[in-house]
Amino acid sequence: MSRLLLATRNAHKLREFARLMPGHEIVPLPDGVELPPEDGETFAENALGKARAAAAATGQAAIADDSGIEAQALGGRPGIRSARYAGEDATDEQNLAKLLAEAPHGSPLTYVCVIAWVDPSRGEERTFEGRCTGRLAAEPRGEGGFGYDPAFVPDDDIGGPAGPRSMAQLDDAEKDHISHRGRAVRSLLAAIPD
Ligand code: IMP
Repeated sequence: MSRLLLATRNAHKLREFARLMPGHEIVPLPDGVELPPEDGETFAENALGKARAAAAATGQAAIADDSGIEAQALGGRPGIRSARYAGEDATDEQNLAKLLAEAPHGSPLTYVCVIAWVDPSRGEERTFEGRCTGRLAAEPRGEGGFGYDPAFVPDDDIGGPAGPRSMAQLDDAEKDHISHRGRAVRSLLAAIPD
């Protein structure tokens, strides 16, 4: 079982990666390792910046995820700025409320996740992208997931007895099967050493 450092301070992402990669030991970023500001122009630049910083500080193989949500009605915003959509220190709830206020109900959304993998011992780095399309719910529903999940109705879910479900109403396995992160992780697993 190989060890991979996950360059994030987001506990939700750590949990999702640990369950998506059961054959790998996913190690949280040690205290004291500074992650660079997310000031790239693309998900890939930001993910690579975080994974390179973690690998350089520890000498260990590292992965990092940069992800976000693109609203078609908003020209792709908030995109790479999803975590700071409602302001620098915005909470998930504030970001979600802003999206619901600005984009029409039912309008198309895409979740994007880019995972960067940096292995200093091999001198290799790669990026992997996963996408998940859906629509904006009229109001938040469900307790699972995190971030924008309560308002994201995935196209790939057939819905429950009460109609369409939000990503936050799916169980973990259902989310992982169709999510942007699940898809990016499956590409990563197919490409890196066990
Ligand atoms: P990052 O740390 O810059 O990658 O921030 C990602 C942003 O996108 C955060 O605001 C998250 O809430 C949001 N996001 C990313 N992935 C998901 C997801 O799987 N569900 C809900 N929100 C997500």
